Amino acid sequence: MIDIFGMELKELETVFVELGLKKFRAKQVFQWLYQKSVFDFAAMHNLSKNDIEILQANCTILPHEIVILREQNSSDGMTSKLLLGMPGGDSVETVLMHHDYGYSVCVSSQVGCDMHCAFCASGLKGAVRNLTKAEIVAQVYLFNERLREANAMVSRVVVMGSGEPMLNFENVVGALDFLHDEAVSHMSYRNMTISTCGIIPGIKRLQAEAKPINLAISLHAVRNELRTALMPINKGYNFVDVIAAAEAYSEAGGRQVTYEYILLKDKNDSVQDAELLSNFLRYKHATVNLIPANPVPEQGFERPGKRTIERFLQTLQKQRINATVRKEMGKDIDAACGQLRAKFAKEQEQKR
Ligand code: SAH
Repeated sequence: MIDIFGMELKELETVFVELGLKKFRAKQVFQWLYQKSVFDFAAMHNLSKNDIEILQANCTILPHEIVILREQNSSDGMTSKLLLGMPGGDSVETVLMHHDYGYSVCVSSQVGCDMHCAFCASGLKGAVRNLTKAEIVAQVYLFNERLREANAMVSRVVVMGSGEPMLNFENVVGALDFLHDEAVSHMSYRNMTISTCGIIPGIKRLQAEAKPINLAISLHAVRNELRTALMPINKGYNFVDVIAAAEAYSEAGGRQVTYEYILLKDKNDSVQDAELLSNFLRYKHATVNLIPANPVPEQGFERPGKRTIERFLQTLQKQRINATVRKEMGKDIDAACGQLRAKFAKEQEQKR
């Protein structure tokens, strides 16, 4: 069986000709897949019965093969999180967020993660493998399929789910290029964001691509020892150098960089921390996105109280640093990366 999802039109045409189908049929199927989000050959009614049979006997369409293992919807109906079972048995999480400006999807880039950030549930078991380009695109299209009735499509993608996108660069950027294609989602690069823990060669490589993709840096601490304790990658790529690489990216492409800063109670949430953070980011093209931590029970991290969060924000603003507190979406649905998958894995273990 050949899985045709995520193939470029040219490749699809080659496959069709090899199967003895007319070349122009490939374009029709391409439209069904990416304009109409239809993933069942039987429903593609401009194909002949015979063509459908040939396709069914030889080809699969990834979104049709993915099993939805779990689904959680936030009580306000604005966030849905899916735990997807890939054909080989691996599972990944993906989240749809409904904003007033449209729909955005938070996609995973790897199964698991090898970065071992202390507060994160994705890396509890390490990285299993990179997701393919098709698997990344499929996360967006599974939601497009659901939005079909509302005549809507996902208009923004953030690569901020499980995994470190810069360690799966080709497939991540390949997926974004595919979504950018006019004949696919025609999504602007400006509506795409890659979030990294600070893999400097990846930031440089993205800069060389010269596409207006937004860059987000998971900073989380600006005291060296603390950052290393929270994010071991800091030993290889020190955060000072990461900020410099991000600033170079921003200068080259004229895009702001977003710095994510998880607020962890009594760890990195003091006024001194906020002042130090301001010192590092002053005069940079930077926005700080404060994320009140989603507690991960396994690791014993807590979220600070409202007052502390407010105080941190005001300290940054007083120093003229652009900063916002991340709007809470899906707190009631284990929306922090890796939490649903970790919970599911634990339940499966307990059943055994
Ligand atoms: N590896 C990439 C992208 C995936 S993580 C990166 O590090 O940016 C996406 C974001 O979720 C990161 O900012 C990460 O630090 C954050 N995150 C992880 N665990 C979290 C938690 N328990 N609460 C809040 N945010 C968390």
